Amino acid sequence: MKTIHFSDLYGEYLTMKQEVDEAIAEVIRSTHFVKSGKVLEFESELGKYLTTNVIACGNGTDALQIAFMALGLQPGDEVITTPFTFVSTVETAALMGLKPVFADADPDNFNIDVSQVEKRITPRTKAILPVHLFGQCANMEAILELAKKHGLFVIEDACQALGTDYHFSDGRKQKAGTIGDIGCNSFFPSKNLGAFGDGGAVFSSNDELASIIRSIANHGMKAKYEYERIGVNSRLDSIQAAILGVKLLYLDQKIEKLQKTAEFYDANLEGIGDLKVPARMSYSTHTFHQYTIQTEKRDELQEFLKSKGIPSMVYYPKPLHLQEAYTFLGYKKGDFPVSERLSQTVLSLPMHTELDEEQLEYIVKSIKEFYLKG
Ligand SMILES: *Cc1c(COP(=O)(O)O)cnc(C)c1O
Repeated sequence: MKTIHFSDLYGEYLTMKQEVDEAIAEVIRSTHFVKSGKVLEFESELGKYLTTNVIACGNGTDALQIAFMALGLQPGDEVITTPFTFVSTVETAALMGLKPVFADADPDNFNIDVSQVEKRITPRTKAILPVHLFGQCANMEAILELAKKHGLFVIEDACQALGTDYHFSDGRKQKAGTIGDIGCNSFFPSKNLGAFGDGGAVFSSNDELASIIRSIANHGMKAKYEYERIGVNSRLDSIQAAILGVKLLYLDQKIEKLQKTAEFYDANLEGIGDLKVPARMSYSTHTFHQYTIQTEKRDELQEFLKSKGIPSMVYYPKPLHLQEAYTFLGYKKGDFPVSERLSQTVLSLPMHTELDEEQLEYIVKSIKEFYLKG
């Protein structure tokens, strides 16, 4: 059996090596390294895939900051989000002087628990910031309704969910990141659509907002050397765009493969010991940026799997309200019991396109063995 990797970016590259290599060579030949050529092409192709405006930027963290800036959020404004997420979500808000206000996560699907949101809305609340964690959408319909009722913006952190479909109750379907006012995405190598370095994008279906976003990402520029607002310098470079353009062609195929792998895990792990397979919500597809189980014996299971040569990861071992950098928000242990518990019980299993049947069989056999030995 081949060594089991947690993710396999090189293996994925090999399946499209020629096209990727040619695309990179083309950029070098053209010397259109920034804000032209492949970047514009890629923005347009991803825009078609998502049916929205796409503005490429430097990374997902920048995308979040640009979103706050584009919506004109001011120091002291409050943004409601989840403490069970990657740090970028609140880091950028805090950096801009905004106040991240947490609502706890849902114990089954890991996303923000919408029933916890409304009681946290104050006169200073300006936005709700759901994170589509691990590849499955938060309950957007309920979030949009709350936002409408209270006049709030909705910013989606879709960094882990590119390609995920949200299903509205009236039958409409929309891609994650295109549902709220602004969607933020990351092309970090391990994300659903990953570059060979950093990259990000901001999405908005509002054309006026999209042009503001484009200006902000480019120094607040209106015309050459004319600045209409304070901006930032946040770019995707053409080599990354060229790589992403090729990988976008295979994104749906990749997602299907990950979903098959998840089905295999589900079918073989459901009902073993106290293990909980990831919940699936009727309103969203799941693109499995991570396949995350829950168990009270998390640390022991991780140790056992490691001894069997099976890598696994804990996303996230400490919720943000308990992080040293965010003590100034005034939260304490016990404030978000679900997120705190999840940080003790979640475990993400190997999930990538290059896992073969033998490896998958071995992984589930090893997990069963762990529970059998008690
Ligand atoms: C990856 C990620 C980000 C940040 O993306 P970068 O490109 O690494 O800056 C933000 N939020 C979430 C939920 C992420 O997973």
